[in-house]
Amino acid sequence: MLNTAAFLRPTSDELSQPFWEATANRKLMLQRCQVCGAFQFPPHERCRRCLGFVTWVESAGRGALYSWTVVYRATHEVFKEWLPYNLALVRMSEGPLMCSRIVADNELDLREGLELRVDFWPIGDVSIPVFKPLGAASGAAENPEEAITERRDA
Ligand SMILES: [Zn+2]
Repeated sequence: MLNTAAFLRPTSDELSQPFWEATANRKLMLQRCQVCGAFQFPPHERCRRCLGFVTWVESAGRGALYSWTVVYRATHEVFKEWLPYNLALVRMSEGPLMCSRIVADNELDLREGLELRVDFWPIGDVSIPVFKPLGAASGAAENPEEAITERRDA
């Protein structure tokens, strides 16, 4: 049987390591240019706007729903247990777009501009940033592996 956590575990490299170390501590980091001040995500060696040096800074963890889709047909067996699920683009308050998922009580209530805040999905020894509507109850995001078990039991 396929190990969901192992399959979903992001591959960390020299460039993304600070990002994944921060998410393990429930912090969302973005790169910021030391020359022009632009924020960027995903990480790059240099600023994509002016080629200036960049540094990691903590994000406010706030954003707005830019676009999304609901997936009804899994592209891999690992995702079958999640169906249907959303994939979303979140416009961070700092500017960059981040591909993520929206964890909401009713995913049908998603709408463009919905205000969101980051939360984290623990998967094995890493945490993946996901987003919740700003008014949603706080607390750790639902563990995707537990969610799978719950849906199997339902
Ligand atoms: Zn720059």
